[in-house]
Amino acid sequence: MARSSAPDTVSVSGHRLRLTHPDKVLYPSTGTTKADVIAYYQQIAPYLLPHVAGRIVTRKRWVDGVGTARTPGDVFFEKNLPDSAPSWIRRVEIKHRDHANTYPVFDDAAALAWAGQVAALELHVPQWRVDRHGTPQHPDRFVLDLDPGPGTGLPECVAVAKRAKKLLGDLGLTTCPVTSGSKGIHLYAPLDGSHDSDYINAFAKQVAQALESELPDLVVSSMRKSERHGKVLVDWSQNNGSKTTVAPYSLRGTVEPRVAVPRTWREMNDDLTHLTLDEVLARMKRRKDPMADLADHAAEPADGAGDRLATYRSKRDGAKTPEPVPDDAPEPSDGRSFVIQEHHASSLHWDFRLEHDGVLVSWALPKGVPTTTAKNHLAVQTEDHPLSYGSFEGTIPKGEYGGGRVTIWDHGTYELEKWKGREIIATLTGTKKGGLGGRRKYALIHTNKNQWLIHRMKIT
Ligand code: MN
Repeated sequence: MARSSAPDTVSVSGHRLRLTHPDKVLYPSTGTTKADVIAYYQQIAPYLLPHVAGRIVTRKRWVDGVGTARTPGDVFFEKNLPDSAPSWIRRVEIKHRDHANTYPVFDDAAALAWAGQVAALELHVPQWRVDRHGTPQHPDRFVLDLDPGPGTGLPECVAVAKRAKKLLGDLGLTTCPVTSGSKGIHLYAPLDGSHDSDYINAFAKQVAQALESELPDLVVSSMRKSERHGKVLVDWSQNNGSKTTVAPYSLRGTVEPRVAVPRTWREMNDDLTHLTLDEVLARMKRRKDPMADLADHAAEPADGAGDRLATYRSKRDGAKTPEPVPDDAPEPSDGRSFVIQEHHASSLHWDFRLEHDGVLVSWALPKGVPTTTAKNHLAVQTEDHPLSYGSFEGTIPKGEYGGGRVTIWDHGTYELEKWKGREIIATLTGTKKGGLGGRRKYALIHTNKNQWLIHRMKIT
């Protein structure tokens, strides 16, 4: 964030933003100012943005600060984007039964700075995303809100979270816990986007009821308050398409400036506490986002709105890896290049990347490309890579994401026959000795979550 000529105008991600009252205290207990809030949102942007990409954002605003435990500040929910908002913030109109709302979608750090400017401390998002045309898609995340009732706290939520992890794991879902910063724990799992919100909400209710019958002394699945003393409410209803949940890495309007923080399962023990803004910034200097995989498993990974390299960037520190880490969102392109890189990471694989719409859409192939038409190989989709990655060779240091040696196995151009939803068909012309050995036609078929099959086809 750079100051420009006018004293109260700043430049963020190439956008100009007017800042007023940067010294205004929003969290009196810690003296945290509006400028501190904006600085937090700028620093956490690489982690936060992948989780809100393509999602409409409802804001919870405390324009005069959160106050104290004794005299809380006034707060209100804001859905419509006010006319005063900068024109460069993406707007999406969502039609409800009897009215329509125009919501913002936060694509870059500048939008987060604007949120700080208007004291929108909490950012709430649904579990579904819009495509680039603004059309709502099926949910790509599942969430359970574990809300501790009177007489319980985080330890009880941890016990319930662990049981839920097992139950959902048996159903093939990988979970990530988030300490909400308010009271309890949010438990997320990625979905493949094949079901609508009503279906997922009904499924979530069954999961909550199953937990209640497994842990009758600890869990309630009903909202009726009289039943809640000494128990954790497993609130399944936030999967409803019209509901939102506080976004991972959003601040909370709590007396201390706490944050909703994705945690590792190793942290899920009796010492678990909520974390504040400063603790989160310190923690993210030395670890990756425990929830990064959920941002990868988006329902429409090749059609995500906004900055398609946000996930790529969140996994890498340009100061620690020789890989290209561009600052800017990719420009659209219609090139048809490909690269296949041999990658000696913790397990050897070949990275298969096709240029598409300004990025390299990427898959990891544990066994490389199939050489015959008789045997398909597994292809695991990974985050989109920048076009500049196409010429990358080098050694990623141990301990960094994908640590190990990368060499180009083959590269060239491809002719596209089909790129639609679950199927891609392309004929690749390789240029490197020991690589594809000329023209080879492949089909990539999406099977489940991030899993695809790659099939060699006959060239007719
Ligand atoms: Mn790789």
